[in-house]
Amino acid sequence: EQDKFKHVISHAKEYGYIFSSSEIYDGLSAVYDYGQNGVELKNNIKAYWWKSMVHLHEEIVGLDAAILMHPNTWKASGHVDAFNDPMIDNKDSKKRYRADVLVEDYAEKIEQKAQKEIAKAKKRFGDAFDEAEFVSTHPRVVKYRSQSKEILTRLATSLTNEDLDDVKALIEELEIACPVSGSRDWTKVRQFNLMFGTKLGASAESATDLYLRPETAQGIFVNFANVQKSGRLKIPFGIAQIGKAFRNEIVARQFIFRQREFEQMEMQYFVRPGEELKWFEHWKVLRTKWHQSLNLGEENYRFHDHEKMAHYANAATDIEFNFPFGFKELEGIHSRTDFDLKAHENLSGKKLQFFDPELGENYVPYVIETSIGLDRMFLAVFSSALQEETLKDGSSRTVLKLPSILAPVKAAVFPLLKKDGLPEIAKELLKELQWDFNVVYDEKDAVGRRYRRQDAAGTPFCITVDHDTKEDHCVTIRHRDTMEQQRVPMSEVKAIIQKEINF
Ligand code: ATP
Repeated sequence: EQDKFKHVISHAKEYGYIFSSSEIYDGLSAVYDYGQNGVELKNNIKAYWWKSMVHLHEEIVGLDAAILMHPNTWKASGHVDAFNDPMIDNKDSKKRYRADVLVEDYAEKIEQKAQKEIAKAKKRFGDAFDEAEFVSTHPRVVKYRSQSKEILTRLATSLTNEDLDDVKALIEELEIACPVSGSRDWTKVRQFNLMFGTKLGASAESATDLYLRPETAQGIFVNFANVQKSGRLKIPFGIAQIGKAFRNEIVARQFIFRQREFEQMEMQYFVRPGEELKWFEHWKVLRTKWHQSLNLGEENYRFHDHEKMAHYANAATDIEFNFPFGFKELEGIHSRTDFDLKAHENLSGKKLQFFDPELGENYVPYVIETSIGLDRMFLAVFSSALQEETLKDGSSRTVLKLPSILAPVKAAVFPLLKKDGLPEIAKELLKELQWDFNVVYDEKDAVGRRYRRQDAAGTPFCITVDHDTKEDHCVTIRHRDTMEQQRVPMSEVKAIIQKEINF
């Protein structure tokens, strides 16, 4: 696993997907830059989300609110008082941890023991293996499962009761039972506010303290009435937004999974009070379908219903993904009640209500939120796509099997040789395709090597112009995943690519 993760990071750099921010100055911790291929993949993920969440839903509209917001926003939302993470330091190793994440790591470590037993049994019993039966009866698996569940429940209870001493006690117990940090002398658990502060205004005296938004959702809430009125929207309706968010995360780790500057794709769906749980289930189904449509592997997904709820929620689920470092939250679906709109009403003195013609009354709508980290989705797509394959002839290749619709470059156009007029024909084809797709041209090295480069970069098609092309106006299309080659008329190339990347 560790090796796979290292490979993901080095491959992302080598192929222009992700670089450390300000790398020449040794980087900035938990901040990353997206390179020439990374920006394309990121834009394609955004477009795929936007299309399915906004354009394919008559009742959902978009928004692009500013990152800087009036400071009262964060008072009303509860972020000033409650957007804290519990932090603990290990006195021996001088390492800092997020206490809840550390406890989750212990639970995950125990869960992995269960997974190992399951994998072993699967191997032993082959087709006759009944996983559901095994998981519910095998004594060690049952024990591991109940241990990890117990740990998470105790964590949730301690956090809800703000019993930070118990969180510390839990860490001390677990460190003995299944060491993660390797040392035992801990400080107290303290709360740490994650918001980045900044100042508006020139002189120190008159400057106003602001925050960089820690989530995009509040931009949607404060604009609720503007959008609803100007769009004449009727409940249920949604507002969607993609944008940067900032959190001063306690521990920087896991590459782009936990960054200090990242992007969210969020949608707030406004519903009639009392109907929120129905819509919560509805959005769980729709978001699951969205993920399934990309074929990243069903086995890589897991749902996790929350026991510990954020201060604003009455139901919450995480969609977890099997990242190179295990299952972790990729997307959150939350039933946020009327907490945010009510709080903004109270503090601003402005009505944030909807007149429901069917009921003949005004109310503050309830909210279902779907919130996915763009960078985490990027990592899910990228890490599940990266594969080492052994070929029939015993050689191996590195291939990035990105869903074609998300691939940064859709096709690479090659002249077989750098002479005999072949580059001219290839460039002509390139120019034609450029209007519809992001395509590249490559004439360096033998064709086999060019194929390998494009495989590793994730390009689904390579198109080669050879001497016969001059006579028959046909080219060879080579498919990334199957490595199959097909001779087709040049005039059909566009349609073939189009078919593969249709929404
Ligand atoms: P975590 O528990 O992992 O810190 P969270 O529960 O605080 O995440 P939310 O506040 O629900 O996360 O944010 C919604 C989504 O934003 C998450 O599902 C995740 O995909 C993304 N996200 C949150 N924090 C980060 C971060 N530091 N870096 C990248 N993406 C993030």
